[in-house]
Amino acid sequence: RKKEAVNVNRLFNDLHSGQVSALSRAITLVESTAGSDSAFAKAIIKQALPYSGNSFRLGITGVPGVGKSTFIESLGRQLIEHGKKVAVLAIDPSSNISRGSILGDKTRMEELVKSDQAFIRPSPAGTTLGGVARKTREAIILCEAAGYDFIIVETVGVGQSETAVHSMTDFFLLLKLAGAGDDLQGIKRGIMEMADAIIINKADGDNQLAAKHARREFKNAVHLMPSKDHGWPTQVLTCSGLNSVGITEVIEEINNYKAHATDNQSFTKKRNAQELYWFHQTIEDAIKTNFYNQPEVIAKLVVLEKEVLNKVKSPFDAAGELLEI
Ligand code: GDP
Repeated sequence: RKKEAVNVNRLFNDLHSGQVSALSRAITLVESTAGSDSAFAKAIIKQALPYSGNSFRLGITGVPGVGKSTFIESLGRQLIEHGKKVAVLAIDPSSNISRGSILGDKTRMEELVKSDQAFIRPSPAGTTLGGVARKTREAIILCEAAGYDFIIVETVGVGQSETAVHSMTDFFLLLKLAGAGDDLQGIKRGIMEMADAIIINKADGDNQLAAKHARREFKNAVHLMPSKDHGWPTQVLTCSGLNSVGITEVIEEINNYKAHATDNQSFTKKRNAQELYWFHQTIEDAIKTNFYNQPEVIAKLVVLEKEVLNKVKSPFDAAGELLEI
């Protein structure tokens, strides 16, 4: 069945005037793997680009169950009270394998879903993290062009998805639990270095003391880390997403960061570095894929691998031979 051509101008105008259905449709186009959609997707992104960039982009990560969706619900509600339009996107590379770990069901963020100031979109499916990340990055652009001025990108701590979210957001927030084996020992170093703030979540009821303790521990650990380019020391806070306690303080820290990064111009510098990162990353990915898909390379690769293992050729000679192709 032949699909109807998309009226890109009209779709963009609808999106730009804030029509949610148009925004959804545009994101679907961007997420589509159908070749017939890619020209439309490109055209709509091109129209949206000049209207993008005027939002605050917040990345959030944490293991499943740490309370991300509950936290985002509380945070989103408060942001909306402050007059923000909030979009929630996700990067979940496992979403095509299993049902995914995040945003899988519609019951999450029930309140936020109902608000006409919020837009919530589950993670796109995809076979590679690069593909999933690209789709989410383009969805950010579309949301911004549709007038959303606070974008939340959520991910779980699997594979490199945190790096992907970190490299498309202005501020990176790590949610942690006190105790429960999810403490300092279990934390990936790189993640802690990426975080602009660490939030000890579920600091309520019997958990409060442990949360305080964990906060102190993390504060000490953060203190020992090398300082970041943008000169912002990682903040450690406690909060209860469930009871909406400590959310105001999180928003305050985000605002402090914004002021700090605007003052020392690192905000724009970071955004520019991200643009170039995606530019180069996309080129690298394409070159790699293209190379490994060459029939000659595919055939020769197995032969050379054997020769390397049998010490017939050095890894460098073998690589050189393959690259000659
Ligand atoms: P996610 O998988 O990271 O999105 O976590 P959810 O937001 O779905 O929360 C997982 C479970 O923890 C749910 O049963 C929530 O009710 C509970 N939960 C979330 N936030 C809090 C909190 O601040 N305090 C407490 N005590 N429970 C919470």
